[in-house]
Amino acid sequence: MPSSAGASRHTHADAPFDFDVTIVGAGPVGLALAGWLARRSATQALSVALIDARDPDDALGDPRSIAVSQGSRMILEPLRWPADATTIQRIHVSQRGHFGRTVIDHTEHGLPALGYVLRYGSIVHALAEAVRETPVHWFRATSALPAIQEHDGVTLPVESAHVTRNLRTRVLVNAEGGLYHEQRSGNGATRDYGQTALVGTVTVSTPQPHVAWERFTREGPIALLPTGGVRGADYALVWCGSPDEAARRAQLSDDDFLHELGVAFGDRMGRFTKITGRASFPLGLNAVDTLVKGRVVAIGNAAQTLHPVAGQGLNLGLRDAHALVDALAQHGATSMALAAFASRRALDRRLTIGATDTLARLFTVDFPPLAALRGLALTALEFVPPVKTALARQMMFGQRR
Ligand SMILES: Cc1cc2nc3c(=O)[nH]c(=O)nc-3n(C[C@H](O)[C@H](O)[C@H](O)COP(=O)(O)OP(=O)(O)OC[C@H]3O[C@@H](n4cnc5c(N)ncnc54)[C@H](O)[C@@H]3O)c2cc1C
Repeated sequence: MPSSAGASRHTHADAPFDFDVTIVGAGPVGLALAGWLARRSATQALSVALIDARDPDDALGDPRSIAVSQGSRMILEPLRWPADATTIQRIHVSQRGHFGRTVIDHTEHGLPALGYVLRYGSIVHALAEAVRETPVHWFRATSALPAIQEHDGVTLPVESAHVTRNLRTRVLVNAEGGLYHEQRSGNGATRDYGQTALVGTVTVSTPQPHVAWERFTREGPIALLPTGGVRGADYALVWCGSPDEAARRAQLSDDDFLHELGVAFGDRMGRFTKITGRASFPLGLNAVDTLVKGRVVAIGNAAQTLHPVAGQGLNLGLRDAHALVDALAQHGATSMALAAFASRRALDRRLTIGATDTLARLFTVDFPPLAALRGLALTALEFVPPVKTALARQMMFGQRR
């Protein structure tokens, strides 16, 4: 039998479970949606189910560090904001071996920070705590999508401890998320970047606290995100390169790895002195064309899985969830709500997916005239403040129309 956390309703053993909104996937996006639905007065009357077999604390072992934008903080804070966030006040962008750089500073935007670095597990943990305090019915189970569509709802099988039960819902939210290489493709754009992200935590000898670095190399971008530590010397590393090189680097001794990283990144923060927690993620793009099919709606990574180059995946997914709450508040758990949601998300998705895909591909082409153009573009950003501001604001807040 499925068990529930924080459940407020009783279910008869043989009766189908019945809900207004059912969310499959208690990752950060599904959890945020569940929490917002349960707390916002206009949606409190909707019965909400959340399905995930994973214990939220399992996510504490996830090796990802995530750059969460200032815009995401503003929508997450009323729900729950993790205590261990490290502030990003400045972002330094450059390309290795070519001229051109740009610096984005929080003071240019009148904001306390451009973003925050958090462990994936700490976001999940904080949001799970918030959801546990609500009447959301949480099934520790899995569900096999696709589900059976009816004209006014969906029936889906929910399996827990080898027992399968049917659940009926008026709206089914696919927040199954996942990583590029684990997802089923189809119904949309897909692109294999031929890159793998090697992540880990590094320590530097001459830190610049609260500065994040993005350095484009011929192989792929290297990102260093501040995570605090003694003197602010710890950084989350995301080193994107060819799958073969990433596999080779994953096996290097710590000393050899740190040396190669120093050669690739340069000495802007002195030497790299320590590396821990190396892990790899193959990178690609999956983006569905149609967010809504009947009463089923996709959000977060289930709707689009992006290259991490611009740190947009989770931020875009949270904006999906927030917009879905608005639509359900306005129209109830109806087809009209889903149509309104899909139309409202079109522009933000198009811009964010397009910008991320362009960045992921453009900076890896080693054609000298193109490298010069990229250098000019980076330099031009410094001298055309409105363009730089527009770009930074899209990355921080997206389009919320
Ligand atoms: C290396 C790397 C770095 C990244 N850096 C950033 C960054 O800096 N900024 C940023 O915004 N994004 C970043 N991302 C992207 C970010 O991690 C994802 O966009 C985000 O995790 C998506 O959240 P989600 O809730 O949609 O999916 P997920 O995090 O994948 O969660 C999905 C949940 O659904 C559950 N589930 C799956 N199938 C089922 C099923 N059938 N039944 C029940 N439950 C199910 C899973 O157990 C899981 O709990 C990065 C990604 C990578 C790989």
